[in-house]
Amino acid sequence: MDGPSGSGKSSASKGVARALGLRYLDTGAMYRAMTWWMLRNGVPVEDADAVAARAGDPVIVSGTDPDAPSISVDGQDVSEPIRTREVTNAVSAVSAVPAVRARLVALQREIMTDGGIVVEGRDIGTVVAPDAPVKVYLTASEEVRAARRAKDLAADPGASVTVTQAEQARRDRLDSTRKASPLAKAADAHEIDSTELGLAEVIEAVVRLAKE
Ligand code: C5P
Repeated sequence: MDGPSGSGKSSASKGVARALGLRYLDTGAMYRAMTWWMLRNGVPVEDADAVAARAGDPVIVSGTDPDAPSISVDGQDVSEPIRTREVTNAVSAVSAVPAVRARLVALQREIMTDGGIVVEGRDIGTVVAPDAPVKVYLTASEEVRAARRAKDLAADPGASVTVTQAEQARRDRLDSTRKASPLAKAADAHEIDSTELGLAEVIEAVVRLAKE
């Protein structure tokens, strides 16, 4: 399941995994974990060579239970710190580095070999799993996506809808214009626009596709 930020991928992917008894993988969390580690270790995230030189260092472990998604770096649970605005605003630069993508895509494919799984990201249908039996590209209007993001960041005083909208537009622009595996809809993906749909309706639509 691919799509831009705030399209509702996470909730929908988890819901589909639960409904079908499958595992679940949040690849965005892996890029966020890599970014958190770079920031933590003083690596200048805008310097692609510096990021590439350290891309192999962090040990990133992703849990695949849709009811208890987890992510750790070097043994430390980073589920919360990877959601800060600092990480969110730095992640596009880190994920544009080919060495970072090569490392994380290899990890993702390794996890996928263990059996049925719902994987969410930006390049799953195009690059990570081109042979996936069901591909979904989830979208929503820019306003709805900004409102969802602002809700996620409600605890952050700087996260007004306006600020979030500007940051989100920047992140989407960087994610969809980078050279290495930009956000893209696979030719054989089913596009679902969730602007007017509730979560249950999105899940139902994807489950229906999976059962076809
Ligand atoms: O899904 P989420 O918004 O948490 O993803 C965080 C960031 O990770 C994205 O903005 C993008 O830069 C990167 N990402 C990626 N490829 C993926 C998943 C996420 O480049 N498959």
